[in-house]
Amino acid sequence: MHSHNYLSIINVQLYKPDPVSHKDKKYFIDGSIYNCPFCKRGNVSYIIIDQGSFDNSNTKTAHFYIIQCTDCGKESFHLSEYKLDTRSYGHTAKKFTFPPKQVKVNLLSERPSSTIKDIFDRDGNHVQELDDAFYHSQPTAYFTIDERIPASIRKPLNECDGSLKNNFLTGASAGLRKAIYKLLKHEDIPERNHDDRIDLLKEKYPKLEPELLDELKAVHTLTSQELHENDWKDFDSHTLKHLLEVTREILLEIYVIPDETKKRREKLSELKKKAKPKKT
Ligand SMILES: [Zn+2]
Repeated sequence: MHSHNYLSIINVQLYKPDPVSHKDKKYFIDGSIYNCPFCKRGNVSYIIIDQGSFDNSNTKTAHFYIIQCTDCGKESFHLSEYKLDTRSYGHTAKKFTFPPKQVKVNLLSERPSSTIKDIFDRDGNHVQELDDAFYHSQPTAYFTIDERIPASIRKPLNECDGSLKNNFLTGASAGLRKAIYKLLKHEDIPERNHDDRIDLLKEKYPKLEPELLDELKAVHTLTSQELHENDWKDFDSHTLKHLLEVTREILLEIYVIPDETKKRREKLSELKKKAKPKKT
């Protein structure tokens, strides 16, 4: 019995969601759970505690949602161009329906009525993820704000993410180039031609998949000076999405995962110190 208890303690204290798994990169995992940007807990329950709308321009309405983590109680802010369908949860709380749907209000009919409809993006794709239904979140995405990633890299990466969500491809491309530029600088990679610098980064991190780093060869950066946005062609949105994810993955591997592993090992050795060998 005693050894059984000991094992359950390890499970509770050491379990952490795998930081590289895809679902942990999202804000909303489904209609019930999300990754809290404050307590950094994955798979926690959220509720919508407030929502409303305002005129963003003469023709556009923005819908805002305040989301509260049911674990730490902190609140985040999310903007969408859609009035999102919600379902009641408990007496007053609400959650989003999943996959997300929008509420279309028909003001032209005599009695205003509303219908629930699927969401399609600009390219006509069916929006299946809640994250894709929002164009701005504060705090910004879960992993780009991980403070273990140096701020000089995090900031342009957030710019890239935000611009991409608004379909500003020039800003997004510049943000990505700047992030890679800052990454190479932060890692003290000497100034050479771009491909050689990426190869040097590969040598510095032999545990990182070289194929992943090779993807960064597409993201040319200038040396010795800040970037001029007009020097390179913009990436298209699909390429940007891919390169942004590749970059996040690399940053996780370099700055986040080694620290997570170190902490888990420390916890293990702490437990080991307390665990007294059984007398036979
Ligand atoms: Zn929380």
